[in-house]
Amino acid sequence: MAHTFDICIRGAGIVGRTLALLLARERLRVALVASPAPQEPSQPDVRAYALNTASRTLLESLRSWPDPQHATAVTRMEVFGDQNGAVHFDAATQGADALAWIVDVPALEQRLVDAVRYQPQVEVVPAPVNAALTVVCEGRASTTRAEFGVDFEVTPYTQHAIATRLECEHAHGQVARQWFLPNGILAFLPLGGPEGRTVAVVWSVEREQVTPLLALEPDAFAQQLEAASQGALGRLELTAARAAWPLQQAQASRWCGPVAHGGKTPHSWVLAGDAAHNIHPLAGQGLNLGLADAQTLARVLHGRDYWRSVADMRLLRSYERERKASMLPMSLATDGLQQLFSRTENPLQALRNWGMRGFERSGPLKNWIAKQAMGTH
Ligand SMILES: Cc1cc2nc3c(=O)[nH]c(=O)nc-3n(C[C@H](O)[C@H](O)[C@H](O)COP(=O)(O)OP(=O)(O)OC[C@H]3O[C@@H](n4cnc5c(N)ncnc54)[C@H](O)[C@@H]3O)c2cc1C
Repeated sequence: MAHTFDICIRGAGIVGRTLALLLARERLRVALVASPAPQEPSQPDVRAYALNTASRTLLESLRSWPDPQHATAVTRMEVFGDQNGAVHFDAATQGADALAWIVDVPALEQRLVDAVRYQPQVEVVPAPVNAALTVVCEGRASTTRAEFGVDFEVTPYTQHAIATRLECEHAHGQVARQWFLPNGILAFLPLGGPEGRTVAVVWSVEREQVTPLLALEPDAFAQQLEAASQGALGRLELTAARAAWPLQQAQASRWCGPVAHGGKTPHSWVLAGDAAHNIHPLAGQGLNLGLADAQTLARVLHGRDYWRSVADMRLLRSYERERKASMLPMSLATDGLQQLFSRTENPLQALRNWGMRGFERSGPLKNWIAKQAMGTH
């Protein structure tokens, strides 16, 4: 077991664990700082994420991709506006087996925990340790980011996301469905394999709707979803607890910097994942971006000259530049869509639905967007 470390990763979420495994492959000695597990067994975790081809390839290379029953391929995506606007994406049109996979979060986390346990280059530690490079993967509320004096420029949305699970009368047919409605954005994400009838729900609603919706009896809540989804999957039954998150768009002003520590060798810090950026979940891209951060940082460190330390600011700045440039279009697109569909004025409603119909017919633009989201551009 290693006792001196090249890298200390603070935060053992999906991004932190993925990065630890990638760096261990580079023969770097990694300390992974994990918060203690909660004492009380909490409610079953209802989260499911849409992960793209790039994320799948990365996690497979680390032997951390969940079994097929926990990773359902999405072969079609249907997006509906509020006045007959609609856009469809098909995997076959994109020449792919799937547009994305809907992954059960606990299953993915467990695969990563197991992979880390069998990686001797990574030591899970209860508190930060001295290392040339500290990578902050503590998520959106990171305290270390604040300790390093980094501004986190947050634009809160008026919307919160409610997540839960449903059992549906009709099979989902591997279709991910999303409705942009005057009272929020609703997504049904297919789970349980090709024949499944279970969907993960992400419903982004105005802040003041959250408490009344969470207070509804399960049947009444399911009826609200049935109405919002226009009965697309028939009768719906709520099969899990409801959890809610406030939503925000945010970006750290700086993603890397030196650490003053009084020693001879340089020490630095760098941010990755939600500690560096947050976007609205409507495009299901937040974790895909965080995994791309991990992959890029590992590649930049791998390609360094033999005499450069992992704390070299030139390397870290090149990582920051590359990732900021690559996430900008996704950040602008999700924010723009959220803003466009949160407006209730009639002309805007008509315009955005007209825009959706035009987009549906726009071959090259539609294909470009699909490839961006799939991570195959
Ligand atoms: C409703 C909703 C739906 C979403 N759907 C999708 C989707 O479909 N697809 C997608 O790609 N993304 C999605 N996202 C985004 C995704 O959840 C995040 O981008 C992702 O979880 C970020 O991972 P992370 O590891 O950076 O941060 P986190 O998941 O927040 O993990 C941070 C870890 O650090 C730990 N930690 C915090 N502080 C400390 C500390 N001081 N010391 C040690 N450890 C610490 C935490 O306990 C946690 O384990 C969604 C988000 C929301 C809110």
